[in-house]
Order: sequence, then C-alpha cells, then structure tokens
Amino acid sequence: MHDLNNLLLNIYEKFKNINDGHLATYIPELAKANSADFGISIVTLEGKTYGAGNCKKNFTLQSVSKPFTYALALEDHGREFIRSKIGVEPTGDAFNSLIELEEQSHRPYNPMINSGAIAASSFIKGKDAIERLQRILDLFGSFAGHPLQVDHQVFLSEKKTAHRNRAIAHLLKHFGVIDADIEESLDLYFQQCSILSNTEDLAMMAATLAGGGIQPITKKQVISRDYIRDLLSLMFTCGMYDSSGEWAYSVGLPAKSGVSGGLLVVVPGKMGIGVYSPLLDSHGHSIRGVKAIEELTHSLNLNVFSAHA
Ligand code: GLN
Repeated sequence: MHDLNNLLLNIYEKFKNINDGHLATYIPELAKANSADFGISIVTLEGKTYGAGNCKKNFTLQSVSKPFTYALALEDHGREFIRSKIGVEPTGDAFNSLIELEEQSHRPYNPMINSGAIAASSFIKGKDAIERLQRILDLFGSFAGHPLQVDHQVFLSEKKTAHRNRAIAHLLKHFGVIDADIEESLDLYFQQCSILSNTEDLAMMAATLAGGGIQPITKKQVISRDYIRDLLSLMFTCGMYDSSGEWAYSVGLPAKSGVSGGLLVVVPGKMGIGVYSPLLDSHGHSIRGVKAIEELTHSLNLNVFSAHA
C-alpha cells in the first residue's frame, strides 16, 4: 500500500495548478482562504494514513458536518421521529434552497441540504446551548480521534450574514418542523459548520463511517452501527446536492462536500478519503477536490458497484 502515497502525490501534482472556480465569499471569513491550498488524505480501516499536499491545513467543516449532526439527532430521537421531520429524497435544487419547503412538502427533503441540517441541529438534546454544542464537539471528536474546536471568527461571520438560513429556520418553525428556539438552533448549526479540521481528520471521520462506526485508531464504536446505512445512503443520494446524480455516476461513493472546500468520501469496508481545496464550482464543491476524487477512485476501481460489474 505504500504506492498510495505515490498515487496521491501524482494526483496532487496533476491538479494543483487548476485555478478555476471561486471562493465562498457569501461567508466573508471564508473569502480569506488561500486558493493555492490543496491536500488529500486516505485513512484505511486499520488506521494507516496516506497523504499529499497540505494535509495539516485547517479549514472549517461547513456542510461536511451535516451527516454527523444527523447521526446525533438519530441517536437522540430514533429513526421514526427523525423520519417524520426530515425526508430522505434528493431535491435537484441548490443546498440553500427553500423552494421545496415553501411550495411542496413543508418539511426538509433531506438532512444534507441546509433546511434538513438546521432541523437536525434543532433536535440535538442538552440542558442548554453550551451542552448541546459540547455534545456535537464530543461526537465529532470521537470520529476524528481527537478533540476538535470551533473557529469563532468563521462562526460569527456566518451568523452576521446568514439571512437565507435565517429565513429557512423561520419557515421550519412556521411549518412546525422545529420546536426549539430559532436563534439557538441557528447558532448551533453555524457552530457545527465552523468546526476546524484538516484532510486527515476528514479521512479519519470517513474511515469511521466506512468501518461501521468503529474509529480506526481508538477502536471505539462512536455511533450505532444501525445508523451507518442511513448516513451512507443519504450521502450517496443527496450528499452532493444538485450534482448527486452526476457524482453517483462518475464516482459511485457516499460523499459530503462543504463550501470551505472540504470533501469527505467513504469507501465502505475499505477506507476514508478527505480532500481540501477552496476554489468551488457552481454547486459549492471543491473543483480540485472533485477532480482528485474522480482520478483516485478510477485508479483504484472504488465505485461501490464496480465489484459486481
Ligand atoms: N454553513 C454553510 C451554509 O449554511 C454550509 C453550506 C455548505 O457547505 N454547502 O451556507
């Protein structure tokens, strides 16, 4: 497997000079990212780590946080309650769309878009806001294998400018999807999005999902095995928003992207992959990240269906 480092280095070299795309300026703090940054990491189920580029560079999780908070909401309330509040259908609309909430079902289509993720955050149990955030940090840290922290600048930057997310939260309250205080739910959502990580953390978190919820280093079962298939199915069908179909076709693996440029990919039963590069396409996915994953997964024949093709 030491060839993996060579493969990652070749992929890094191949795509590092692609400068297409744009930074996520709608959260002002994210516009300060260095667009040259590019890192890619792999962690196997045995906990072996491979990487190339800026693997230790910290960035905020943004929407990569969504499956993990959804997992905690499932642990807190069970599948039946959560299913009654948040659907499991892809939208074909942008991640921050509120159109389907307004016009059709009056509940979020799935937990990978903002409406579903804000609802999931509102369901996290705890005696107060501090305890709810701590429970999220504890769970995310147990996936990564070490404590994680919130970047307060990014949190405040999003909190000040999140008019669309605030509108979504008000609609969720209006339609009776969420019961909790709107500002507290939004704060928790912005904080989970502002948790700092690097590509090794993403790969470790993905490897934990790939291994049925067992963290590769600590060997702890960090989430019920029963919920892993919920998360992976939803990441497969909805994790890349309105390009999920394209992604399923070209890569064929559960994944989640974030607007800071992070991309987490799960290879069930095999490994986790994390990529970071902040220049984004029109869906909000890292351009170098998507290219790197396409190249890597084709080279290693990792599409979940390829074993049967
Ligand atoms: N915090 C971001 C938002 O709500 C996350 C979006 C994303 O990463 N796609 O807009």
